[in-house]
Amino acid sequence: MKAAFLTGVRQVEIRDVPEPRPAGPNDVLLGIDTVGVCGSDMHYYRTGRIGQQIVKFPWIVGHECAATVIKVGSAVEDLRPGDRVAVDPLIPCGQCDQCQRGRRHTCRNQVFLGVPDQLPGSLAEQLVMPAACCYPIPDSMTMEQATLIEPFAIGLYTQRRAGTPNGEKIAILGCGPIGLCVLLAIKAAGPCRVWATDLLDNRLQLAAELGAEWTGNASRDDMAAAVGKLCPEGMDWVFECAGEQETLDEAVELLRPGGTLLIVGIPQHDRISFDMNHLRRKELTLLNIRRQNECVRPAIELVACGKVNVERLVTHHFTLSQTQRAFDIVADYKDGAVKAMIHVSSRP
Ligand SMILES: [Zn+2]
Ligand SMILES: [Zn+2]
Repeated sequence: MKAAFLTGVRQVEIRDVPEPRPAGPNDVLLGIDTVGVCGSDMHYYRTGRIGQQIVKFPWIVGHECAATVIKVGSAVEDLRPGDRVAVDPLIPCGQCDQCQRGRRHTCRNQVFLGVPDQLPGSLAEQLVMPAACCYPIPDSMTMEQATLIEPFAIGLYTQRRAGTPNGEKIAILGCGPIGLCVLLAIKAAGPCRVWATDLLDNRLQLAAELGAEWTGNASRDDMAAAVGKLCPEGMDWVFECAGEQETLDEAVELLRPGGTLLIVGIPQHDRISFDMNHLRRKELTLLNIRRQNECVRPAIELVACGKVNVERLVTHHFTLSQTQRAFDIVADYKDGAVKAMIHVSSRP
């Protein structure tokens, strides 16, 4: 089968490798249909690492994927060949205290698709996964929609951590795919007024189309001044989806006393700082988001019933052999790219 390997920083090679086989009775062999290019893949592409997770080349990245079941292990009961599935890229151990507490996303022994030293990623024609990670999708759902279930589940989980909106004033700082998924989830969950910021105008335009009432380009507009006029008492919830010191500072500035800051973005640096005086005086609540938990199924339902148009995020399409081009366009924010889809298979 063919797979796209990172062979160095900003280097992709399509190589032929042996097809995988279902390893255990609870595994399934998947034919990958579509893979979404994620910001975390771009970290590995641009720098070969995320924090302590360092790529040993060659390595296959990719974790947002939709697939068709080819073969199932002997103990798999609820999947059969031909089923179309959305894939949850996290494999928990099922044994540790976190798994026992229903927190599989913080499993102490988890492995995740495409993470160095854990599992090779999904930019390959075939992949073996535990059946428990494969969620059948309805016939009406496209493979692109199914591919976007992974990032949308993170948006949905983030919304659930904040709560069900009922008239809240909300800021989303950073309108990359995850910020936009938070926007989609929050607008679907209940009435609220959303202010969105980014550095790229095309993303702000998309945020406005997806329900943001007001948008600001952080490189031009003074967000605090503008929001101060529109919402003098301050924001109820701020979702920091950029992973920058500046946006974290801005979040603290924008929140009303008693407001909640949700930290969704992943900062480049391990240490960031807060103005403790502000945090304490406003008595802000800080919530960290680590991927998602138990949100894949409800994400599928929200997309399937048409309440959430997650496919609006897709701006670009590529084949597996064009992976390098896809990565260049996404890594450099070229050509208005938001979410690029790599169509891996052209199976009959
Ligand atoms: Zn992702
Ligand atoms: Zn565990």
